[in-house]
Amino acid sequence: MDKSPGNKMNIEQQGIGMTSQRSRNRLVEQLRSMGIESELILDGIKNTPRHLFVDEALASRAYDNTALPIGFNQTISQPYIVAKMTEALIVNGKPLKKVLEIGTGCGYQTLILSKFAEQVYTIERIQALLSRARERFYSLKCRNIKAMNSDGNLGWPEHAPYDGILVTAAPIGVPTQLIEQLSVNGRMVIPVGSAGSQKLLLLTKNEDGVSEKYLDAVSFVPMLGGIN
Ligand code: SAH
Repeated sequence: MDKSPGNKMNIEQQGIGMTSQRSRNRLVEQLRSMGIESELILDGIKNTPRHLFVDEALASRAYDNTALPIGFNQTISQPYIVAKMTEALIVNGKPLKKVLEIGTGCGYQTLILSKFAEQVYTIERIQALLSRARERFYSLKCRNIKAMNSDGNLGWPEHAPYDGILVTAAPIGVPTQLIEQLSVNGRMVIPVGSAGSQKLLLLTKNEDGVSEKYLDAVSFVPMLGGIN
């Protein structure tokens, strides 16, 4: 990290980062006890300043294992879910080439993904959230993320196929265009279903079709159509 004096963002990052080191360690121990095994992913969570992804008023709760509001009726996902989804997508911590994320939100999951992919493409339908997420990627010097304001149901065909797709809002069924944009042997982690009965699924594409594995019961915001 750049420690040059006079760089306001870096001083803020270091200051809060240091005081919250104990809560970061506690969070990681909690995730471990809940079954997250990948040390690389646990390290990724420990080293990512989640407090910079929420409102200052909520910063003291940033390392609690809970979802928090990020405005526009949306939430930053619970760290356990972020870890679980990342672990399902990234096998043995082996980086992927191209990952597509649907639902940038505040950009926290995007940043975690960027540690395990050569290039991350992320789509958010709410322009205001996307702009703020972009500023965070820039100030954190994260250069392998490209973000677009669009409807994630359509995917991002220009860069397809993706060897990983991660969806952080729940459609009723898996959008066919996302399946089409997944490479053979690619993996997609996606919550599916209506409020109150959503399942987190791991889909793996092979020559003959798509196989499906149930991962967990979850509660995501709905995947909507159009942009805002
Ligand atoms: N990974 C995010 C989760 C944000 S909540 C985080 O940790 O902050 C889910 C996000 O999906 C919201 O920001 C919502 O606006 C977005 N979303 C919902 N439907 C979408 C769609 N069709 N296309 C793109 N983004 C969508």
